[in-house]
Amino acid sequence: MGKHLVLVGGGHAHLTCLKKLKDFVERGHTVTVIGPAPHHYYSGMGPGMLAGTYRPQEIRFNIQKMAEAGGARFLQGVVVRIEAAAKRLVLATGEQVSYDVVSFNTGSGIPLQSLRIAPEAKVFTVKPIEQLLTAQALIKERLKKQELHMVVAGGGPAGLEITANLWRLVVRLGGEANLTLVAGRRLMGDFPERVRSLAQASLTARGVEIVEGAHLQEVQTNLVVLRDGRMLPFNLLFLALGVRPSPLFQDSGLPTGPDGGLLVNDHLQSVRYPEMFGGGDCIYLQSRPLDKVGVYAVRENPILYHNLLAALENKMLRRFQPGGAYLLIFNMGNDRAIFWKKQFVFEGKLAFWLKDYIDRRFMRKFQVSGELTEA
Ligand SMILES: Cc1cc2nc3c(=O)[nH]c(=O)nc-3n(C[C@H](O)[C@H](O)[C@H](O)COP(=O)(O)OP(=O)(O)OC[C@H]3O[C@@H](n4cnc5c(N)ncnc54)[C@H](O)[C@@H]3O)c2cc1C
Repeated sequence: MGKHLVLVGGGHAHLTCLKKLKDFVERGHTVTVIGPAPHHYYSGMGPGMLAGTYRPQEIRFNIQKMAEAGGARFLQGVVVRIEAAAKRLVLATGEQVSYDVVSFNTGSGIPLQSLRIAPEAKVFTVKPIEQLLTAQALIKERLKKQELHMVVAGGGPAGLEITANLWRLVVRLGGEANLTLVAGRRLMGDFPERVRSLAQASLTARGVEIVEGAHLQEVQTNLVVLRDGRMLPFNLLFLALGVRPSPLFQDSGLPTGPDGGLLVNDHLQSVRYPEMFGGGDCIYLQSRPLDKVGVYAVRENPILYHNLLAALENKMLRRFQPGGAYLLIFNMGNDRAIFWKKQFVFEGKLAFWLKDYIDRRFMRKFQVSGELTEA
């Protein structure tokens, strides 16, 4: 007899399931996909979209269309509670959805609880990626009227790419802006020294001020206060600080990792509830905690696809092997990029060409027809 599978969040780890929904439906199962919006944005191209290098429709997946084309139901909404013992989800609207098997791919966000932010301050978090579109529109409007002071907080890959692509946006619009990157302890401090020095040289050559050894303490309406007492004036602030899963799993009393992610075994299955799975930034893999990068979400796709089908039909589950070193290419907003894989690092136009090629190929792989050319 057919069962009910619910996919919560149409993120990077669910794309294979979304593309192959017919495999579930043709076996007699019912599938519901829940997400806050019809589109899911690909973060790898997010900074490029901010700069205007990509149009929004080039970097997003229409998960509603994917769901409906595969014979599933798309339910627009946000899951706010999991009642695991009753196999039930509660949405922000109060609506309840029961499941036989459920999989979470709800991603991560920037936790703001520990930071005091004045309500009038213009602050954007770099996730969800859609926020970057709102920021772009605001910059376009304000640049016509004033010189902007923009501060980016976060010295990791997201902060680096956002800063570099804000520069590109300003140049493209023919405006003027002061750009400051507050890099925490050290810009790209988790990467080899060569990545760091290339990133630093690229930004400083364009007039970006990089502040190291400093963390945000408080955000006043037009002033960022650092823990060491320094103050930076700003009109727009971007927060690219370390991401964390939403408190959904902790709040629902499920076993979680130290970051609040759903604690899963090597089958990407909750350590307590065998009918519950997950992938991407929202999980904490018990045997080997993973970096919060899209690469792992993408690698998890075939395992989630297999194991969700297997869980519906009481078949053998497969183990997820995280694999070896991964590649990251940082879009520096000037048609150049920094390529990093283990100790192999280089900068230039070729690196950007490669990133653009890989990203566009990924988008085509999971795109429903007609979307990329949508107006
Ligand atoms: C600016 C930026 C650039 C990056 N570039 C790269 C890169 O080049 N390469 C790389 O490997 N990584 C990159 N990353 C990291 C990457 O974004 C994450 O690792 C990746 O997004 C994780 O994918 P995900 O599917 O788990 O989560 P997400 O992409 O966050 O997707 C989660 C989905 O779930 C939905 N959702 C959330 N909460 C709920 C809920 N309660 N109910 C229902 N639906 C919900 C969201 O709307 C979203 O569609 C970048 C991150 C940032 C911020």
